[in-house]
Formats: sequence, structure tokens, C-alpha cells
Amino acid sequence: GFNCGIVGLPNVGKSTLFNALTKAAIAAENFPFCTIEPNTGIVPVPDPRQDALAAIVKPERVMPTTMEFVDIAGLVAGASKGEGLGNQFLANIRETDAIAHVVRCFDDDNVIHVAGKVDPLDDIATINTELALADLDAVAKAILRATKSAKGGDKDAIAMKAVLEKIEPVLNEGRPARAADLSDDERKVVRGMGLMTLKPTMYIANVAEDGFENNPHLDAVRKLAAEENAIVVPLCNQIEAEIAQLDEDEKAEFLEAIGMEEPGLNRVIRAGYSLLGLQTYFTAGVKEVRAWTVQVGATAPQAAGVIHTDFEKGFIRAEVIAYDDFVGFKGEAGAKEAGKWRLEGKTYVVQDGDVMHFRFNV
Ligand code: GDP
Repeated sequence: GFNCGIVGLPNVGKSTLFNALTKAAIAAENFPFCTIEPNTGIVPVPDPRQDALAAIVKPERVMPTTMEFVDIAGLVAGASKGEGLGNQFLANIRETDAIAHVVRCFDDDNVIHVAGKVDPLDDIATINTELALADLDAVAKAILRATKSAKGGDKDAIAMKAVLEKIEPVLNEGRPARAADLSDDERKVVRGMGLMTLKPTMYIANVAEDGFENNPHLDAVRKLAAEENAIVVPLCNQIEAEIAQLDEDEKAEFLEAIGMEEPGLNRVIRAGYSLLGLQTYFTAGVKEVRAWTVQVGATAPQAAGVIHTDFEKGFIRAEVIAYDDFVGFKGEAGAKEAGKWRLEGKTYVVQDGDVMHFRFNV
């Protein structure tokens, strides 16, 4: 699966957010073959389409697809020099696919701020500087290595060196590598390095209940994010924590009372999903309607491989009905009758929402 690491300065609302996510998480006993670390929450990706499919197919159960969040506590200034839990912290971030950076955008004199004042740009800079310094160290070393190999005419090393030399000056300014103007191909060249500031990033702006509008802190974060290819999700972590405590009936009532259609947490989960370039396809049988995650651009065999590697190896064809057709024609029979049922081969590129059934050799 894909995961998203939660980072941020102390006392900005990380634990509050993580606790809300864990309450929404799927219980560990549903993953009998995995060890789930205590700092990890595997949450269902909210998708009303799976309920629409279930209303038609009436399966025994409905299984959402999931996204993993990892609480990475402990970053302080000086982490890149190994201060505090520095090294451990950085190692944990390197392993994540994306970063959710929580920033305090609420004023509250009762909640102490580590820097003594609420200044989201300053806070972001503190963390990003540590990450950029650690990346800079890795980049400088890699440039030395690539330069040596490039002298011998190694084409990969030449390409690597060129990209690293575009990234280095950006890091040198204390800006994240994702702010460098890189093409998709250039990104691919350095992907294996696990540069932290190149990872897709969302800023979770933790605002007060009435802080979603006319909030200069939030505006500042939005402006910065736009400059460095990041996205912003405004959220009131405290309300999310309250929502997470409630049972389903109370939840609906509470949301209506405060004029929300769904928990804000759903926006965080979806943002993580799209940040990683992920999309969903469905399988819809009488036993189970289930959502599965694939990378945008995945082919039919790759999609089959998400269910089981044997499905990918023995792939023959995929039966496909577009989501709108499946729902519009009220199921497989109706879609077939309308000529909307397709048999697709190995090169078929899966579309978001496709309802699929795989044929394969064992
Ligand atoms: P962490 O150190 O980043 O994990 O921060 P915590 O989640 O422990 O939150 C630090 C303090 O801020 C706690 O006292 C929270 O109750 C408070 N807090 C968190 N989110 C909010 C919020 O949205 N509004 C207000 N007023 N306080 C919050």
C-alpha cells in the first residue's frame, strides 16, 4: 500500500489529527498477516461510488480501499545534525511515499507555541530547512559519485549529475527540491534517492473552528504552497477529534448541526490519494463489492496484480464496464445489453471507477 507521513513542530496538533485518523482506521485484526506499528493508521478511502455499486449488486460485504498514515513525531530544529530524535526521524520520513505537514494556523493563548508565536511560515521553514539540509548532504555526496562515473562515460551517471545539479542550488537556498523545475523524466532519474523535500507534500493548516475564512495564517500557507508545488488542506483538528469520538448516528447529527457534509478527515485522505497519483477501480460480485488502488496510468494486468500477483502473471483479459455505465444501466446485465461491456487486453489503461473482472490462467 501507499503511505503518508505526518510531520510538524511539537504542539501544532499532530497527535490530535493522528488520533482522529486512528479512530477512523480499520481495526488491526483485519490485517492478520501484517504487523501494524502503533504509530500507523490504515484508514478507508471514503468513496460514495462503492455504496452506489453495492445498492445495485447487494453483496455480502463492501470493502473500501485504504491509505496508510504514519505519525512521525519528534522533529526539532537541528534534526539534520542528529539532534533530538533527528536521525530516526529522518529515516522514518525517507520511507514514506508522501508527507502531510501539520501547521498551526490557530491562535489560542492556552496552547503554548514552541517558538513563542503563531507564525506558520516560520514553522514551515524550520522543518523544511532541516529536511533540505539532510537532502543537500545526500545530493552533494551523490554529485561526487555521479561525477566520477560520468567521467567514464556512464550515461545514467551523466543524466543523474545533470538533475542533481538542478536540485542542489534550490536546496542551497533552503527551499524544497520539489520547488525545482523538473520534468517527470528528471524526477524519475532521482526517485530512488528518497529525497524528502521531493516527496509530494500537503500542508494541513490546523485552523480554529471559525478559521476557514479570513485567516491570514491560512492565506500565507496557501501562497507558499503554490510556490513550491505543494497543496493545502485546511482542517480544524480539534473538531475532527470530537467527530471521531462519536458513533455513526451522533456523527451525522453533529455534522449537520455544524453545517458539514462529511468529516474534514475525508479531505485529508483524498488529498493523500490524489497527491500520490492514485485512482480506484472496483470489483463487484455477489460476495463482495471492493475498491482497489492503482497508480494513474496502470494497465489492466497491473491492476490485476493488486489483487494477486498470480492474476498479473496469468492475465488473459479484463472484462470492463465504466462506472457510469454500470450505475446508469443498473448492473452488469443492463450494461451488457446496452453494449457497454468490454473485453480489454494487456495494454488497456485502467480508468478511474472502472468495474473490472479478470480472466487469467493459473
Ligand atoms: P502535537 O504535539 O503536534 O502532536 O500537538 P497535539 O495534537 O498534542 O496538540 C497540542 C495542543 O494543541 C493540545 O493541547 C491540543 O488540544 C491543542 N490543539 C490541537 N488542535 C487544536 C485546534 O484545532 N484548536 C485549538 N484551540 N487547540 C488545538
